[in-house]
Amino acid sequence: MTKNISLLGATGSIGKQTLDVARMHHIGVKALTANTRTDILEQQVREFHPELVCVVNEERAKQFKISIADTSTKVVSGKNGMTEAAQIAGADTVVNAVVGVAGLLPTLSAIEAGKNVALANKETLVAGGSIVKSELKKHSVQLYPVDSEHSAIFQCLQGCPDNALKKLIITASGGAFFGKSKEELKNVTVEDALKHPNWNMGAKITIDSATMMNKGLEVIEASWLFDVGDEKIDVVVHRESIIHSMIQLKDNAVIAQLGTADMRVPIQYALTYPERLPSPVKELDLTEIAKLSFYPPDNDTFECLEICRRALRKGGLYPAVANAANEAAVQMFLERKIGFLDIPDIVGKAVENFSSRNETISLQDILEADRETRQEILCQR
Ligand code: NDP
Ligand code: MG
Repeated sequence: MTKNISLLGATGSIGKQTLDVARMHHIGVKALTANTRTDILEQQVREFHPELVCVVNEERAKQFKISIADTSTKVVSGKNGMTEAAQIAGADTVVNAVVGVAGLLPTLSAIEAGKNVALANKETLVAGGSIVKSELKKHSVQLYPVDSEHSAIFQCLQGCPDNALKKLIITASGGAFFGKSKEELKNVTVEDALKHPNWNMGAKITIDSATMMNKGLEVIEASWLFDVGDEKIDVVVHRESIIHSMIQLKDNAVIAQLGTADMRVPIQYALTYPERLPSPVKELDLTEIAKLSFYPPDNDTFECLEICRRALRKGGLYPAVANAANEAAVQMFLERKIGFLDIPDIVGKAVENFSSRNETISLQDILEADRETRQEILCQR
């Protein structure tokens, strides 16, 4: 079980819930990082007394140094600061709760320093899956999924014999716009898209849930985590978010993981694996829920899932391009510069127009493809 963590993205939804788990189980906090929300970070520093904090934004880091001058916590900034936090001595696990592909380099830094990684930052695997996998092997460290679907699959796989797996069945809530037609989606607002039925999450992933891009990213994430191709990953819409995902075995037995929708279960399991410890999460009352419903995904209205599947089949840099296009499109949607339906349009076109130059890809190739894709999209509008 993890004794000390370094927590990247401490001020976000997953970051705060990770600190709930750390508080409850007396897990030490060696380092914390944030981008801009230093008010939250200050409270966290005063409660958890980390040795180091990184405030990515340089200006805010300078001000933050003054705010916490009465503590013994060292303040660093920028990308180098993130590396320092990811590699801090004494942390056995790095929790990566950063949003977006900005989480990729810190994940690699953590692995290089011999840390296990509890990964919420799915963009790490979507953009850099091949490199992350080979680095994990090289440094003999473990990566534990925090994403609820992947944690569910990981939990279902415990005790499952090698070669028994037939397919993964990932559940999707359907997001804010389940059941709507394309016509109805034309004029939806940022506020509409931010209303998730079951989970309270950061803005980017909530928009990703509304477009179903989140499920597309999760299919790619699952293919790296569990070594399966796109044809062995089913997606089923399950509105209640009670079944967090399933595995189907060769004999067609299906194993599911259920629970109240609360990220503290997968976060805690990633930190205590293989132990099971008490948790503040509400017990599941099946009679209160009474019914669970399932639907096929509507791929005509919500195109992002299929676009991600295409990117995954093409392989190489295509998933990184789909991810970068989506990050740029979501940013513009949140800034009210484009409409909701422009998001799948932008992501689809980016994948369609991209032509890969290389078979085997390097970290440099990924970072370049990410930067070029973003620039092209952000400059066009
Ligand atoms: P939030 O937006 O709530 O938090 C993101 C965190 O990352 C914040 O601490 C933020 O700092 C920091 N951050 C933002 N930009 C950068 C950057 N460029 N460099 C370094 N740090 C940065 O996101 P969530 O907690 O919702 O999601 C985090 C990750 O977990 C995402 O990849 C998401 O897909 C995944 N995930 C989230 C779930 C959830 O329930 N929220 C469920 C499953 C997966 P600041 O606050 O200072 O801006
Ligand atoms: Mg998920």
